[in-house]
Amino acid sequence: MSTVPSPTGAWELPDELVMLRDTVRRFMGSHVHPLEDTLGHDANGLPREPLVELQAKAREIGLWALQTPEEFGGAGLSVLGQVVVAEEAAKCRMGAFFPALGAFGGNPPNIMFKASPEQFEKYARPIVEGTMSKAYTAITEASGGSDPARAIRLKAVRAGSDYLLNGSKMWISHAPDADWGVVYARTGAGRDGISAFIVEKDTPGVTFTRIAVMASFAPYELRFNDVRLPADQLIGEEGQGFSLATDFLVHGRIIYAAGPIGIAQTALDMACRWAKDREVFGGKLADKQGIRWMLADSEVQLRAARLLVYQAAWNADLGRNVAVDASVAKMYGTEAACQVLDRCMQIHGALGLADELPLERWFRDLRVKRLGEGATEIQREVVARAMLK
Ligand SMILES: Cc1cc2nc3c(=O)[nH]c(=O)nc-3n(C[C@H](O)[C@H](O)[C@H](O)COP(=O)(O)OP(=O)(O)OC[C@H]3O[C@@H](n4cnc5c(N)ncnc54)[C@H](O)[C@@H]3O)c2cc1C
Repeated sequence: MSTVPSPTGAWELPDELVMLRDTVRRFMGSHVHPLEDTLGHDANGLPREPLVELQAKAREIGLWALQTPEEFGGAGLSVLGQVVVAEEAAKCRMGAFFPALGAFGGNPPNIMFKASPEQFEKYARPIVEGTMSKAYTAITEASGGSDPARAIRLKAVRAGSDYLLNGSKMWISHAPDADWGVVYARTGAGRDGISAFIVEKDTPGVTFTRIAVMASFAPYELRFNDVRLPADQLIGEEGQGFSLATDFLVHGRIIYAAGPIGIAQTALDMACRWAKDREVFGGKLADKQGIRWMLADSEVQLRAARLLVYQAAWNADLGRNVAVDASVAKMYGTEAACQVLDRCMQIHGALGLADELPLERWFRDLRVKRLGEGATEIQREVVARAMLK
């Protein structure tokens, strides 16, 4: 929601999504924020026991497996609903990186909805039921993440009833914490030569090395040295890796853009309060035009970003092709959120950079959002390609 209420008659969410938003908001206030106050500034996740307790509370009120379709045991929430939840759930210190501290789990990697029933039951069902935590997704390699169809070098070669994997992956978030992951490997040439495999945590020949990056992120390099996988670990057919994931990837971009908007909105609310309180040159910061314009520009950008994200989600739920809408929303949403947050830090002066407030942590969180799920330049490329076709 914006800092300033829109006039009556402005586009509004359907009633059931307003109720959902309010439920998430109450959950954040009653359970997430008090728990978060017990953690350090850079904590990246809850310890197991409090996490399980928090997730049980979320499940009690139906905030579970929201992205998982009903036929797979999930809530099957609309894309617009997922956007609303993502925006609210990011309004905490761990931001969009660990929305609601990981309370709303139960979602296996989307490609698992195209897996065989046996694969789904063995690997994905325990995630939906909450007996297993997350799985990782490994696409990026040292050779590049923006153009994976060309950059993937990790080789999977058929060897009798098995596949033999050799190569490496880079920047894979929290990989060793997961019980298994989906690994994209090359089985042939070009885009149709990429296949997706399920790799269990303790598979011999797989090693994990932490990559040092900006604080609070935990990406890993994965090395595959003569890793033998039974052929039934292949998802779908050989060469279908990308085609199975495409629809979900597009919708994922829309949802991805919502969290940053939630963070930036919270930062803007903080900046408004600070500007009204802080004294400079015999007046309030809020009286200075330079500051007032920063606030106004931020409000305008956030309204625009939110509408673009909601519109893309709305179109996705109508079954339309939203490849361009999703890129517009992802690009504008994440870039606008970064700009707004930067202004909010500036308005707070030195305090904006201090651990006492969550702003500098969110600054790092949002910085990564401009790269993940297709960097800004890739989204521009999608838009330009459609324009010039
Ligand atoms: C904290 C963190 C966690 C991550 N977690 C995961 C994960 O769990 N799984 C996973 O698979 N990956 C993960 N990644 C990797 C991420 O998806 C990639 O960093 C991203 O896809 C970009 O790839 P790259 O870093 O290789 O940059 P490159 O592809 O080398 O691109 C470099 C720069 O050039 C730009 N560029 C590329 N192509 C063009 C073009 N045609 N025109 C103009 N500019 C262009 C890019 O936008 C980028 O700014 C993570 C990264 C980080 C930092």
